[in-house]
Amino acid sequence: MDQPEFYAEGALVNVLTTQPLDRTLDYRAPEGGCAQGAYVQVPLGPRQVLGVVWGPGRGDFDYAKIRPVTRVLNVAPMRDELREFLIRAGEYTLTPIDSMLRLATRVPGLSDPPSMQKVYRLGDQTPDRMTDARARVLAVLEDYGGLAFTLKELADMAGTSSSVVKGLVTQGAVLEEATPRDAPYPALDLDRSGKPLTGDQENAATRLRAGLQSESYGTTLLRGVTGSGKTEVYLEAVAECLKLGRQALVLLPEIALTAEFLTRVEARFGARPAEWHSGVTMTERRRAWKMVGQGGAQLVVGARSALFLPYRDLGLIVVDEEHDNSYKQEDGSLYNARDMAVLRAAICGARVVLASATPSLESWANAEAGKYERIDMTDRFGPAILPDMDAIDMRAEAMSSGKWISPSLQGEVRQRMEKGEQALLFLNRRGYAPVTLCRACGEQIECEHCSASMVEHRFLKRLVCHQCGESRPMPEKCPSCEAEGTLAPIGPGVERLAEEAAELFPDARIATLSSDLFGSARALKAGIEAIAQGGADIIIGTQLVAKGHNFPLLTLVGVIDADLGLQGSDLRAAERTFQLMRQVAGRAGRSERKGAALLQTYQPEHPVIRAILDGDEESFWRAEADQRRAAGMPPYGRLAGIILSSPDPQAPFQFGTTLARHDDALREIGAQLFGPAAAPIARIRGRHRVRLLVKAPKGAPLQQAITKWLAPARLPKDMRLAVDIDPQSFY
Ligand SMILES: [Zn+2]
Ligand SMILES: [Zn+2]
Repeated sequence: MDQPEFYAEGALVNVLTTQPLDRTLDYRAPEGGCAQGAYVQVPLGPRQVLGVVWGPGRGDFDYAKIRPVTRVLNVAPMRDELREFLIRAGEYTLTPIDSMLRLATRVPGLSDPPSMQKVYRLGDQTPDRMTDARARVLAVLEDYGGLAFTLKELADMAGTSSSVVKGLVTQGAVLEEATPRDAPYPALDLDRSGKPLTGDQENAATRLRAGLQSESYGTTLLRGVTGSGKTEVYLEAVAECLKLGRQALVLLPEIALTAEFLTRVEARFGARPAEWHSGVTMTERRRAWKMVGQGGAQLVVGARSALFLPYRDLGLIVVDEEHDNSYKQEDGSLYNARDMAVLRAAICGARVVLASATPSLESWANAEAGKYERIDMTDRFGPAILPDMDAIDMRAEAMSSGKWISPSLQGEVRQRMEKGEQALLFLNRRGYAPVTLCRACGEQIECEHCSASMVEHRFLKRLVCHQCGESRPMPEKCPSCEAEGTLAPIGPGVERLAEEAAELFPDARIATLSSDLFGSARALKAGIEAIAQGGADIIIGTQLVAKGHNFPLLTLVGVIDADLGLQGSDLRAAERTFQLMRQVAGRAGRSERKGAALLQTYQPEHPVIRAILDGDEESFWRAEADQRRAAGMPPYGRLAGIILSSPDPQAPFQFGTTLARHDDALREIGAQLFGPAAAPIARIRGRHRVRLLVKAPKGAPLQQAITKWLAPARLPKDMRLAVDIDPQSFY
């Protein structure tokens, strides 16, 4: 491209703003000029909005009426690499470029001028008088070990007023300092050596290092059984990347895992990296964004949105637990962080490491096809060995109604307790009971805004809709027939399971691990640590426990309902059940004690259950791949979901039918259209939902065809249309 690098004052520039305008706008370069890619503040009507200098002005507008750029922000200009990534990711996901720019600038106060600010950190004095509010302030500072906060952030986090903080400052218990906003992160010490590696780990690390030294794009599937020490291996790749002077990004599927991971990074490199996720304070977020762009952050650890940071020279992206569903953004811009990581790396010449014990079928197939390098780590680290796995045939168990822990499983739990070991009872359902029914009139309590059952959360004493989050107090009377005391819980959630366990094992210390039972990520982390150190005999857990946490005393995993994930017609039901069961089972026996995993099932002969028990992963993947290939389903064909929603119950169907009638653009590429059909969850937040599904051969230009197909459509009032390329869920 023959674009000027710099625009002198008064020159016309074309600016992409974060506003949904469908076009870019011309402005005049401000005093001092502006660079290509500069982040700027520009007037738009009466407002000031954020934008990026996208190119030379088009000049198709009267120059005299063109307003100047208000201000150039004091941050590194957007690099061509990020620009190309936003454009291509937008084209792939059919997301407008302004939305992509919003994803890349989700940081408050970006336009604040650089200045000094007052920050507050822990002092060494004890206050003469300790109040609850003061204790909370000090607890926040201790929890964040050494981090400093602005007055407002600290007061907000402690749930108190700024005067309490100021009071602690006069006592010397809190220190007030002036610091430049947005200081660089401390340098990571690359000369420190990591933990000694096993032969298996060393081989894997050597191959990853070699990839990095090539300084060109490549993706590696790092498949390591649970406990094989994948993290140490990819930290070696991080070290190699940083030694080459490039930046690294590690994506984690869940915020609750970040704290444990940061501790490992600190142990390995002697300092903490930049953090990027929704739990990070506003000040830290802005600092991370700016420092990533200026090279003041070598390593970023974060959630999927960290992919959109303005790296100066990104050399490595690690996607840990790459099969995890949470990498697919299901709200707003529908993108899969795993796939977008590969796209960004291909643009900027970086390496990608996809780490998992149970890879997604997509990644497995890409490795089979030779697109990804594949490294297998089969030795479990240290003395740990894979657990014995077996089914409990529930058809042969004497179960009483409203009970879910079979006599066989009870016996196994008892044995572990006698030996001072831990048992985990796994059920992937939050709350007390998934359904609440009136025994008098048969009414099932549903959310007023969604076609979903309200889930009783006894701990909160509320009914909660897991679709929209709406909650209300547990009613005393049936909302339908007004009978009193007739509401009955149907089916188990973890809270109810905990109640059953408490009756069965009155002497046991029982801990329930479910994300909604902890007030914050910090409380959750503290809870997990206490349990891991032996603070419970029996752990009742949702899928939260399947994700990477270590429980050294845990030797038994009992899966309460192994059939749960097999219900429904989801394309990925088998794959997900397989992954989740393998992950959960992998929690058992991670130290020198051998573990066992028992699956309660009514269909022990089901092929997926058999594959889980046999542990023959390659056969499972091959069988699953054969089925998908025969059906032309992903990854051997392509899918796109179209979701129409409206407050009007008829409108989405009518509109969907019109779309379906004019599907020439789809048929031209050999694609088929299914629907419209009512979505499995036919109403969410008061909006009626209808789905269409486009199925296309692999390699067909799906996005172009969909764009062409939808271009003439005029959305009726209040109708929303969302396109989900490569859908992961079909709700
Ligand atoms: Zn009733
Ligand atoms: Zn709802």
